[in-house]
Amino acid sequence: MDRRQFLQVSGAGTVGLAGGASAPARAAVAPLSAPADLKHWTWVRGTRLDAEWRQLFGQFRDVGITAALIDVDAEALAAVVPIAAESGIEVHAWMITMMEGGFEDEHPEWYAVNRDGESTATDPPYVDYYKFMCPSREPVRRHKEARARRLAGIEGIAGLHLDYIRVPDVILPSALWPTYGIVQDREYAPYDYCYCEVCRGRFEARTGIDPLALEDPSQNRAWVQYRYDTITEVVHGLSQVARAAGVPITAAVFPSPSIARTLVRQDWPRWPLDAVLPMVYNWFYEEGTDWIEPTVREGVTDLGGRFPLYAGLYVAELTPDQLAEAARRALAGGARGVVVFEGAGTSPEHWAALGAVLRA
Ligand SMILES: [Zn+2]
Repeated sequence: MDRRQFLQVSGAGTVGLAGGASAPARAAVAPLSAPADLKHWTWVRGTRLDAEWRQLFGQFRDVGITAALIDVDAEALAAVVPIAAESGIEVHAWMITMMEGGFEDEHPEWYAVNRDGESTATDPPYVDYYKFMCPSREPVRRHKEARARRLAGIEGIAGLHLDYIRVPDVILPSALWPTYGIVQDREYAPYDYCYCEVCRGRFEARTGIDPLALEDPSQNRAWVQYRYDTITEVVHGLSQVARAAGVPITAAVFPSPSIARTLVRQDWPRWPLDAVLPMVYNWFYEEGTDWIEPTVREGVTDLGGRFPLYAGLYVAELTPDQLAEAARRALAGGARGVVVFEGAGTSPEHWAALGAVLRA
């Protein structure tokens, strides 16, 4: 797996929306699906000509996909919304959240710092673009909220979708270890975030403990929880932005609550979302498609019906038959639909196999 594939992997998150407890502020926004309905999605990246968008959206519609999570800039996104509507496809703004380069000179202090004292601004882990910002810092939160406000305010946008809403992987999915020549059998300092002055100061003010002084930080429950909580706090702020704009908010997350907490400190069942789109990518965990059903079920059980779960499927490492089986397993585990990664790179054979399941 090369770097580009690695980014693709880490960057696929999805959406799911429900009505009920978190009713949008604007009456015009209806729940995306009735409780008993299934809904299917796809992530799509990159700009393309209008005619190419039309062709893609027609393909999605043909296999039963009705929502596209699109990662392009706000201007391009605004132009795509009416084109998607021609095919009955709703468009969600796919926002890469905590990973963001470009402010290293202006605000080097915004970037997360590992247990060795290295900033992702200058020494990112794994790959050179892995520049994550610190979730504890108020200016970082305001910066993210401003971007979310621009995306959520696009005319006709159907939702705000968070991806990379996390710290860098303290432990990578096991299939990626050989790529980087590492074995992450526990938490190691170069991949453990964030130990910046703000994070250390906030934690010490609450507990009297400087996390850098901990012999094994992975065993200090309060410090582990602090990292969960700071990401959750960022989600709360972005959720308020979406609510104010009258659009639902969803997030792409790691496959199950236990894996998400262990690898990237996402405690996603606690987040104030309208739906969650876990990346149930079996290949990255060296598992077969039979792993998908119990993994989905763990998330559905932990959510306790608070909002729906849509299962992200990684098409590139599945044959058409395996993709169909993956979709069946996801639905059997309680997913209310599937999310295809990536919608613009899926073969006709894969679409045909998937469509047979989704339209059954
Ligand atoms: Zn920090």
